[in-house]
Amino acid sequence: MKVALVTGGSRGIGAAASVELAKLGYAVAVNYKSNSEAAEKVCEEIQGFSGVAEAFKADISDSDALDKIFEDIHNDLGEISVLVNNAGVAYIGLLQDMSDEEIRNLSDVNLLGAMLSTKRAVPDMIRRHDGVIINIASMWGEVGASCEVVYSACKAGIIGFTKALAKELGPSGIRVNCVSPGVIDTDMNSELTDETISELCEETPLLRIGKPSDVGKTIAFLASDKAEFITGQVISVNGGII
Ligand code: NAP
Repeated sequence: MKVALVTGGSRGIGAAASVELAKLGYAVAVNYKSNSEAAEKVCEEIQGFSGVAEAFKADISDSDALDKIFEDIHNDLGEISVLVNNAGVAYIGLLQDMSDEEIRNLSDVNLLGAMLSTKRAVPDMIRRHDGVIINIASMWGEVGASCEVVYSACKAGIIGFTKALAKELGPSGIRVNCVSPGVIDTDMNSELTDETISELCEETPLLRIGKPSDVGKTIAFLASDKAEFITGQVISVNGGII
């Protein structure tokens, strides 16, 4: 059974991606930072349709914690074939009001974490001449958002990382793409008021915000053989808002 690691798989988009990948037949390593209950719930949902899933705790910005889960995943499930770099955190506020530590922490999770995870997944993929990496960017990485400057910069970095890595790893049989969601109904947007949500729906040609499964299904498509000639691309899942 092929193995997929979804970072931040316990909630929102990562949880939806974990379920969709399990439906494709992957054994899913559901990574989380602290919410073990949510991670176990995702695993139970997958096991409920006879899929295989196991939860693995690690802060993806912590090198030692990453070393440990990569070893644990290898021992428990096997070599990773699909890596979904999904874990992320948002921060709303002016750049000038952020402490240096807040800027570092945000960058460590949203950009560095994807690089640290990827470098650990790639050697086995290169040896097998087979692998898929899917990075989760954001529409703010494409167009920039006021009051989310560091987040937007990290997501623009994820897009650059995707394009460069696709060139580096294409000859080794590894595809690298990124999915760029618009506004998706997850905990990350729980502070948006009903009024803001309805304004966003009105601004969106498809007249709604996204569901985690909209993104999860796109991730599963990119992981599948249906996407075998797609690499280095940014696939926007945003209802047409940008
Ligand atoms: P979410 O509902 O807030 O869930 C975040 C997930 O990331 C949780 O599973 C959380 O684990 C995990 N996580 C956070 N920090 C982590 C760390 N340091 N190490 C490991 N895991 C960590 O977020 P979401 O909305 O699904 O977002 C998922 C991705 O999509 C993010 O990269 C986000 O930037 C991107 N995105 C989201 C939207 C949107 O509108 N929601 C739009 C564009 C892009 P715990 O459960 O343990 O806390």
